[in-house]
Amino acid sequence: MKIILHIIIIILLTVLTQIGGLIYLISIFLVKKQKEKKRLKRIGIFAVLYLFATFLLVPNLAPVFGREKIKETEIVRAHSFFYKLANRNYVRPKLNKSIEKIGIEFGKKNSGIKVVYLDANFPFIDKFPLFPHLSHNDGKKIDVSLIYENPNGKLTNKKPSVSGYGAYESPTEKEYNQISICKDKGYWQYNFPKYLTLGKINKDIKFSKKGTRELSNLIVKQSEIGKLFIEPHLKNRLNLKSGKVRFHGCQAVRHDDHIHFQLK
Ligand SMILES: [Zn+2]
Repeated sequence: MKIILHIIIIILLTVLTQIGGLIYLISIFLVKKQKEKKRLKRIGIFAVLYLFATFLLVPNLAPVFGREKIKETEIVRAHSFFYKLANRNYVRPKLNKSIEKIGIEFGKKNSGIKVVYLDANFPFIDKFPLFPHLSHNDGKKIDVSLIYENPNGKLTNKKPSVSGYGAYESPTEKEYNQISICKDKGYWQYNFPKYLTLGKINKDIKFSKKGTRELSNLIVKQSEIGKLFIEPHLKNRLNLKSGKVRFHGCQAVRHDDHIHFQLK
């Protein structure tokens, strides 16, 4: 029974953070069975090892695997500390430069408004997927938040979802509705991130057409960027003309809560 619980924890930690499962396994071996307060000691050792690995070891090891930590600037930042704590903030150097450039140009046009990233990739091993995004497995992919505005029409850094995912800018009655098409075809997972918000916040903010359009156009302007995924009704609403703006397919999830882009 205990072994099964350990295995479940190892799998969960691996899926969430890539390195967490391995570190948990090491912690089990380091604290001997007969020791007093075994569980507490294991948790303590795990926490120390995990933080050491995540913030000191992994950033220096990842370049061996062709990836690096996303460079945070005044303008580019993670939606929450979780993305950094869980090692979900690694990209290829080329994408890192691209994100930085996009941030600088976006910041020039919209003073104080940040480019907020969500899931990128894990630091190690091509083809190791970053759940639930199966394609984020090669260092070339990243998700960023949409841009929102306050009731007075001014752009804001606030976002509507605690996790960063699942707060949708749904199609209006008149807009093309890819979501119901995918649902009707039986792709139940398309709408699944609605369960991943961890709570909706900032209910007074509104989707900013202007801000999101500007950000999308800046992204596709970068020559090294190959594709941008956004829900078809938003592509139309924002009047995005670039051939790089594609539909991701029903086997993916909805992209009206975030923008995905990737290197060529
Ligand atoms: Zn993505």
